[in-house]
Amino acid sequence: MTKRRQRALATNALPDDEWNAALHELPFLDHYDALTRARLRDLTTLFLVEKSIVSGATSGAHKLEITPHMRVLIAVQACLLIVGRGATVMEAMVDYDGWENVVVYPGDFPRTQDFEDDAGVVHRLEEPIAGESWEGGPVLLSWPAVEAGYDASGMALVIHEFAHKIDMLDGAVDGVPPLRGPARAAFQIAIGSAYDDFCRRVDAGEETDIDPYAAELIDEFFAVTCEVFFAEPELLLQQYPVYYGVLRSYFKVNPIAGTLGD
Ligand SMILES: [Zn+2]
Repeated sequence: MTKRRQRALATNALPDDEWNAALHELPFLDHYDALTRARLRDLTTLFLVEKSIVSGATSGAHKLEITPHMRVLIAVQACLLIVGRGATVMEAMVDYDGWENVVVYPGDFPRTQDFEDDAGVVHRLEEPIAGESWEGGPVLLSWPAVEAGYDASGMALVIHEFAHKIDMLDGAVDGVPPLRGPARAAFQIAIGSAYDDFCRRVDAGEETDIDPYAAELIDEFFAVTCEVFFAEPELLLQQYPVYYGVLRSYFKVNPIAGTLGD
């Protein structure tokens, strides 16, 4: 796998203009140092080789054509989550092994799964959603929601959905990425207390700077706060410094300084 990835990197360089055009649209990447950007570019290159970013609407009135620019924009944000992981980019990509497709829709799309509640009752949710991640399967994204993500709204749908992918890596959707031993315990305690505090504030009707959707479930809290970690890190550090610290330890990135390492 590593050899194949080394070959893929050597033969599929991402053109400068495509790379620069994507960075230009993602202001939260401006301050990253040269080393981190080089790694992010290599990961983006591998992601584009290994994953298929395809249209969910290839015909009809709402037909959506996926351009190379759209592909790079999605890939670079997905790869930001793994930029500090693994000794090499080949190793970091392992976090995204086991599935192939990113399906992009021209707007919100109906949720595709039924779900079973704690009492064992199966519900079918009909409401349209902007993004969804399947364990071992595709990531689904609404393109308008992806585009809305790099304005001042502070929302970053691609980071959100790929954070769910990372949460699912250990087989449990519980807001905890794959960690073992004391690191896992520390993460669980930190996210648990941040989540409890956030739910209390939302329940009390407080206006929160973090999207109140994060109070839905702990795995949504993880996904939303990953968006904040990468797109508005000062906010998360100020509100939940201990939790911010365990995210830094997991991602091995300092998103404020724009450097690698915990
Ligand atoms: Zn979510």
